[in-house]
Amino acid sequence: MSQEKRPHAQHLSTRLIHAGTTTDPATGSVNVPIYQTSTYRQVEVGHTVSGWEYSRTGNPTRAALESLIADLEGGVAGFAFGSGMAAITAVLSLLNQGDEVIIPTNVYGGTYRVLDKVFNHFGITYRIVDTTQPYEFEHAIGPRTRAVLVESPANPLMSVTDLAAIADVAREHNVLSIVDNTFMTPWLQRPLELGADIVLHSATKYLGGHSDVVAGLVVVSTSELAERLAFIQNSTGGVLGPQDSFLLVRGIKTLGVRMDRHVENAQYIAEALARNPEVSAVHYPGLPDDPGYEVQRRQASGAGAMISFELAPGHDYRAFFRSTRLVALAESLGGVESLVCHPATMTHAAIPAEVREKVGITDGLIRLSVGIEDKDDILADVEDAITASREA
Ligand code: PLP
Repeated sequence: MSQEKRPHAQHLSTRLIHAGTTTDPATGSVNVPIYQTSTYRQVEVGHTVSGWEYSRTGNPTRAALESLIADLEGGVAGFAFGSGMAAITAVLSLLNQGDEVIIPTNVYGGTYRVLDKVFNHFGITYRIVDTTQPYEFEHAIGPRTRAVLVESPANPLMSVTDLAAIADVAREHNVLSIVDNTFMTPWLQRPLELGADIVLHSATKYLGGHSDVVAGLVVVSTSELAERLAFIQNSTGGVLGPQDSFLLVRGIKTLGVRMDRHVENAQYIAEALARNPEVSAVHYPGLPDDPGYEVQRRQASGAGAMISFELAPGHDYRAFFRSTRLVALAESLGGVESLVCHPATMTHAAIPAEVREKVGITDGLIRLSVGIEDKDDILADVEDAITASREA
């Protein structure tokens, strides 16, 4: 029998470091070089030296990132964009005039805005549905429904949608299922394995991990979708540059250790907030009494590191935001540093006030992105700010 070495499937923690990047053949560099070039010399008309022709169409640093994320999500091809919104825009560009997309009640405000204010102009409509109830999704599907775009856990109430149930219903009705996996990353949840057709990310968040890059990633499950999205990416041109592609490849190498620490810290802080009499509600799918707890345990290997909570009556949320010292008040999430934000005026400001109130995004809701600092330092800062927010 042949003694040749058989390739074996590597574990995710190994693939985070090695997938997509081979040793650079020109120099032996173990890291993918930053190919800071817009174009490539051609040997004669119609013949390139190496297959690369123009960096909107393809760039080797971006290609390393794209094959890395495709490997991690278990899809056939990956695509890197200049932001999460550019990634979402490219995916929605798969739709045609007259098509309808279903989005969840807690959808990211930017996704709502691009549908409401941009795609609406092209005759693509949306319908808001509580996707945490798969039967409501099935009930809402109409003759024009072509896609469903879900987030789980969804921003900012951390509501959990059963991704396999949504994908099953979508497949039965010939509806494309798209999952925004920003809050989980492939380290905790892999939607394509649960039956989704497309997974996308604001890579600005955990994948980059250090709050120093704005980027978006998409992975598709079939070569037909890959071909169509490659065409859209090249035609609309919202691609990620080589410097930022390099930063993402670098960030993803430590994704596993960062996420494990993020989740450990978040669980600790969520449990402490749930015990705190000055906090009236805590939304975190790692708490056993959270409505999403069981589904989260089934479909993901951790509850993530996003928590939202409300202060008990007699506290002023504005004073809370003025009082944190370690934890900065800022947009965004998923970096090594803890951040707080006020969803009603920041991430979800694009959603009309009456819709926000109806779905529970109250003015007093506080969202915490738990970083990887010492968990007792984060908790002490949050608890001090809660004390400082007591009304006189
Ligand atoms: N999806 C989710 C869940 C987000 O939280 C965000 C940004 O906060 C986006 C998409 C948009 O990503 P970006 O800001 O990178 O365009």
